[in-house]
Amino acid sequence: MRSRPGPRLVKVRPLFPESFFVFDMNKASLAAQFEKVFGRSPEFVTRAPGRIEFIGNHTDYNGGTVLGASIDRGVAVALARRTDGQRNFHSRYSGKTVTLPVGAPAKQSGDASWTNYPLGVLAALPHFGLKTPEGFDYLAESDLPAGAGLSSSAAIELASALAFLGATGQSPDRETVVKVGKHAENHFVGVPCGILDQGVSGFGKSGRLVFIDCAGPRFDTVPMPAGASFWIFNTHTKHALVDGLYAARHRECMSAAQALGVKLLVEVSPEKLRASEAGLDPVAFKRARHVVEEIARVDACVKALQSGDLAAVGKLLTASHRSSQHLFENSTPELDFLVDTLVAAPGVFGSRLTGGGFGGAVMALAGPSFDAAQAEKVAQAYAAKYGARPDVLPMNVGEGAAVL
Ligand code: ADP
Ligand code: MG
Repeated sequence: MRSRPGPRLVKVRPLFPESFFVFDMNKASLAAQFEKVFGRSPEFVTRAPGRIEFIGNHTDYNGGTVLGASIDRGVAVALARRTDGQRNFHSRYSGKTVTLPVGAPAKQSGDASWTNYPLGVLAALPHFGLKTPEGFDYLAESDLPAGAGLSSSAAIELASALAFLGATGQSPDRETVVKVGKHAENHFVGVPCGILDQGVSGFGKSGRLVFIDCAGPRFDTVPMPAGASFWIFNTHTKHALVDGLYAARHRECMSAAQALGVKLLVEVSPEKLRASEAGLDPVAFKRARHVVEEIARVDACVKALQSGDLAAVGKLLTASHRSSQHLFENSTPELDFLVDTLVAAPGVFGSRLTGGGFGGAVMALAGPSFDAAQAEKVAQAYAAKYGARPDVLPMNVGEGAAVL
């Protein structure tokens, strides 16, 4: 029998049809595509990856730590300078070329709204003492689903930033490039994302995960043991009140910190929290416990990764999900069903919701015995229960943002 998703969830239409992801993302094919659109060769080709939140759920605004994986899918940008005062932006995402004058970028809407990401980067550069290029032809290409929680937005921001920096002969340090991308998203696009998205895209290394201490921020990498890959199951569902729910969790964390006499929950140890349980409101205690224990799980995960213990890593991932499910209450029955099904499948080390929660996607870390046929079984079990198939996206760790 089929049961339908509960009324709390709305369906999110994929932004790109599956046929979108056929493009070969190397320098030569980017140059060929650029040539087709603009009739000449690009001067600069750059690429930045999407990311998976590996572990560290809602820890960023609590001053905590997080681990992310830069993935082997991303956004590439090709660019050539112009001297006639025009800025031309093209992406198959909208199919049309958007022509804008040089000068201070103005926010775009409708079909041109995707250009707010590169325009936001142009607007951000001067805040970091950096020059912006005048006219140019600009092409974005992608093999990364947009709006799937894999941060195509950070990927297009970082690829754009590297292209604009190339065109102006500037090479600031990586942390500045990351901050330029975040500034574009926070202040021009208007999305209050944390440092995870741009930090992982900017500091990613193949064979490694990115560790971020959000309080600094401080960036580092830890080895990703060989023999495991990632599977994303995107449900295309989203809680109808998701923005309000994020804000409510943020508020609950801040008032729990206040009740505990600290500024941010990162300052509370699991022991201190347990000792304070009686004096705390039960909901505040649950939210705080999730955050405090999740930060401890990030630390434990770093150690397990360093010793190559994938089984221990997997257990921490699943424990993170159970904490989201029962303590932070940012999971949904759909995500729980996927995690339950995945952890019972052969070869899966662990599984958890990835991203803010309240719908969206689940990640599994799995060895080679979990293959496409196994993944298809999981997708079919979900479809039989919820009447719609999740997207199944296998991926590996890939390189961070770079000039190609
Ligand atoms: P996510 O970051 O999870 O993918 P967002 O809503 O933050 O979702 O960002 C998606 C937006 O980024 C798209 O709606 C589009 O405006 C922009 N974008 C992503 N990839 C491309 C691309 N290849 N070409 C043009 N715009 C893109
Ligand atoms: Mg985004």
